Amino acid sequence: MNKEILETPIADGEWECDECSHIIPGRASKPPKGPCPDCGEPADNSFTFFAYDAGWDGGDSEDSEE
Ligand SMILES: [Zn+2]
Repeated sequence: MNKEILETPIADGEWECDECSHIIPGRASKPPKGPCPDCGEPADNSFTFFAYDAGWDGGDSEDSEE
């Protein structure tokens, strides 16, 4: 079946590297471990969490762009 899905944690936001803006999807309670994979900055103090807005993946677009 779809075993690969079990390995993926549910992300309610994303961690952004303050140095290079590298994005790591994850949860507020679980900051990224280890250094930034892009620039090598320690994750301890170089990542800022941004929670996904409600309806992040709702696909409910109010603005109709053609
Ligand atoms: Zn980085």
